[in-house]
Amino acid sequence: MPINVTQASIETPAHALSGTEVLTAFNSRESGLSPHEANAARERFGPNKIPAAKRKPAVIRFLAHFNNVLIYILLVAGMLKAVNRDWVDFWVIIAVAVVNAAIGYIQEGQAEKAISGIRDMLSLHATVLHDGLWQEIDAEYLVPGDVVRFGPGDKIPADIRILTAQRLKIDESMLTGESEPAEKNTDNVGANAGIGDRTNIAHSGTVVTQGNGTGVVYATGANTEIGHIQDLVDSTDDLKTPLTAQLDNLGTRFAQAILGVSLILLFLGRVIHDMAPSSLLSNILSFAVATVPEGLPALVTITLALGVQQMATHNAITRKMGAVETLGAVTTICSDKTGTLTRNEMTALAAITPSARYEISGTGFGRAGDVTPAGPTTDPEGVAELARIISLCNDAVLRENGEMWSVVGEPTEAALAIFSDKQGFDSSGIERTASIPFDSAHKFMAVRVANPGGGTDDVLLKGAPDVLFSRCTTQRAADGEGKVSFDLAFWESQVDSLASQGMRVLAAARCPASSFHTNIEFEDVANSLELVGLIGLIDPPRAEAIEAIAICHEAGIAVKMITGDHVETAKAISRQLNLRPDGEPVAVTGAEIEKMSRSQLAEHVVDIDVFARTSPEHKIRIVDALQSHDQVVAMTGDGANDAPALTRADVGIAMGIKGTEATKEAADMVLADDNFATIEKAVAEGRRIYDNIIKSVVFMLPTSIGQGLIVLFAMIFGWDAPLAPTQILWVNLITAVTLSVALAFEPAEEGIMNRNPRGRKARLLAPWLWIRIMWISVLIAAATMGAYYALNHAGVDTVIARTTAVTVLVVAQMFVLINSRFLYHSSLNLHALTGNNVLWISSGSLLTLHLLFVYAPFMNTLFDSTGLGFAEWGIAVGAALVIFLIVEVIKASQNRFYANKHR
Ligand code: ATP
Repeated sequence: MPINVTQASIETPAHALSGTEVLTAFNSRESGLSPHEANAARERFGPNKIPAAKRKPAVIRFLAHFNNVLIYILLVAGMLKAVNRDWVDFWVIIAVAVVNAAIGYIQEGQAEKAISGIRDMLSLHATVLHDGLWQEIDAEYLVPGDVVRFGPGDKIPADIRILTAQRLKIDESMLTGESEPAEKNTDNVGANAGIGDRTNIAHSGTVVTQGNGTGVVYATGANTEIGHIQDLVDSTDDLKTPLTAQLDNLGTRFAQAILGVSLILLFLGRVIHDMAPSSLLSNILSFAVATVPEGLPALVTITLALGVQQMATHNAITRKMGAVETLGAVTTICSDKTGTLTRNEMTALAAITPSARYEISGTGFGRAGDVTPAGPTTDPEGVAELARIISLCNDAVLRENGEMWSVVGEPTEAALAIFSDKQGFDSSGIERTASIPFDSAHKFMAVRVANPGGGTDDVLLKGAPDVLFSRCTTQRAADGEGKVSFDLAFWESQVDSLASQGMRVLAAARCPASSFHTNIEFEDVANSLELVGLIGLIDPPRAEAIEAIAICHEAGIAVKMITGDHVETAKAISRQLNLRPDGEPVAVTGAEIEKMSRSQLAEHVVDIDVFARTSPEHKIRIVDALQSHDQVVAMTGDGANDAPALTRADVGIAMGIKGTEATKEAADMVLADDNFATIEKAVAEGRRIYDNIIKSVVFMLPTSIGQGLIVLFAMIFGWDAPLAPTQILWVNLITAVTLSVALAFEPAEEGIMNRNPRGRKARLLAPWLWIRIMWISVLIAAATMGAYYALNHAGVDTVIARTTAVTVLVVAQMFVLINSRFLYHSSLNLHALTGNNVLWISSGSLLTLHLLFVYAPFMNTLFDSTGLGFAEWGIAVGAALVIFLIVEVIKASQNRFYANKHR
């Protein structure tokens, strides 16, 4: 592809040009564009955004809502009505189906909008160089000519000609289908090279798996390779979840039951009652239509979508709808420590050299503070060398901002850079020529810089103490003269003393660089390092995490800490977090996990609170072991290597601030604030949403079954029908429009985090809920029929009796809606009338429509209804009240029995 002629005036493809040529083509340079140039380019090239993929046409999306077995029943019934020339019935049935599809269509549209709006919150960031200063910007603002940098886990924000690359590998499978990450370098390639062969290009949307690099942007937005193929990518969000499948299944079984009973009715009507075919058909169709719970299919989508929106307001951004329902079932949360359970506000507190210990004053990113000896001995050269290593082997950028530093980079690195500044080290003018970036898999970082004393270059390292210790053979001599052999016992005792105070400890070491090449290879730092010293940093626990952990324990959810940090540091923090309220936390290290077989780990995993010095692959084993106990596992992650574990977990949770793009992509949910407390809130929200779906089903099914029973009984006993078929259809139509979504808006029921999780194998509707559903169905049917036959018996006109029966049905549904607000609590209090305004809007609309049915002359003609007096209304309200009270008695007795099971 020629370099985007729309974006530059040159025709040669970027991969066939040198980095400098591409920079020149966009009037840029190695120090990047100036902010002014970048703004001007933004005007010219527009935002770095790929236009949204085309959606399926609206008609297709609308028609998809008819593709459900319950709706098929309605449609077949409608067709048969048309054949029978029952036009009013036909139109009402069609109206029920169309209105229902319209509701589903609108709800789904809102759900999709909610989800994609929330996805937009996860905007991609880029680190860009403007006039020699690195800064983070929204990737949308990138322009051709911008110089950017990228590291492990980063998603490439635009099409980029690579300018520098250190051990850079990029996963390009989304473009090339090649599953192995491609090695990248800066060499020119031929103009005809295919995408997979452009080794000097980082393509937009691909993910860095290893190493780091810089490059110049040459194509943005729709002009990128991914922009070209975006049209081919179907980006429609999948709104299907396990719960929708479960409800579809319920719908299918319901439909089968309706067909089965219809056949029995056919037999009864024909053989026993010898009914005329047309009235028999009409009755059977009434039964079928009355019993179809047409609101069921759309219910889950809207409830989950509302939940997704709600969660987003609490900083939990759901990437997959299914996560919402799974969250509600979580039994174990495995959480990272740094930044999630702790504040990630690192402050270096202690520095240790072979012969002295220093204290560092000042807090957080404040600029004030000193490095002073903490004991009788001093080692000014030692601590200065420590500061040099820590400062040069560091990617954080500090910028003065009044009393504070403003920081680009990781808090650990920033805290270390601040320590070096307090120690008075100035890194300006010193350039690194090669590096091995930090990765939580190997847990150290190394850089190559010129030796200040001349001669062979220095390799400077910082990293987890145990990792560096295993590579050290010497240490800086106490008197600063040369080096002496490495004293492992001394250093381990120093690490333990810092770690047991909850400090994160990093070691600093050095060695001469290889003279055989200009890079740093892993073999170059495999042994013979010289240890220079240790730094201890504190990172206090988040107060809200302590509270959230207590709530999780109350809710029957286990919380486990999985960290790359030292076991003593992790244990000290877990004590502060009260991870094990009844005793000392049980901890294992990654090395110990390594020695365990799969079954051994499975045997112990439930009892372990802290997993320390773990690597990303241990996380997969931990998830696996927990899942072997049928646990529903939520797992957090931030590094690129965490992605597989997040995929394996039932709910993969990525960090929004600290997390790499690769992790976010693999996650079901992203925490915008990286905060553990947000997970706990999301679990509570997941439980609320699941409850609301169950509540809606428990409300919807009795309405349908009750109506079905009315037709069924009248037919079986050959009685006069209490409701005309059109009337049943009408009730069906108006309740579907009004009441069916009200319960999706229910706030959480009291004590929602005081019961145990519902568990992996829980059925959608427990048997006791089926019993409740059947009771309510029978009560609604009995009240409606009772009202009709009593009035009929008393000689009241059939039209009045029927209108009263319809009114009983409608008012009873409104009351049952209030019963259904609480699954586990009584609705017999004022609380039942507050907290959900949608409920009142729905009920008000239903009542208005029903008043039309009763009093509007044209409705009277259409539906054979008539105006009612106080007495009839009194019957309706009285009957509904009795149903309400009986349902409350049923709930109370069931809850007494089941409450214990739920606690
Ligand atoms: P988690 O977020 O999972 O709790 P963590 O952030 O403590 O873990 P890692 O980031 O994997 O874990 O860090 C592991 C160890 O590597 C740390 O304890 C520290 O000793 C060392 N380390 C951390 N960051 C750096 C860095 N930037 N450079 C060198 N070493 C580092």
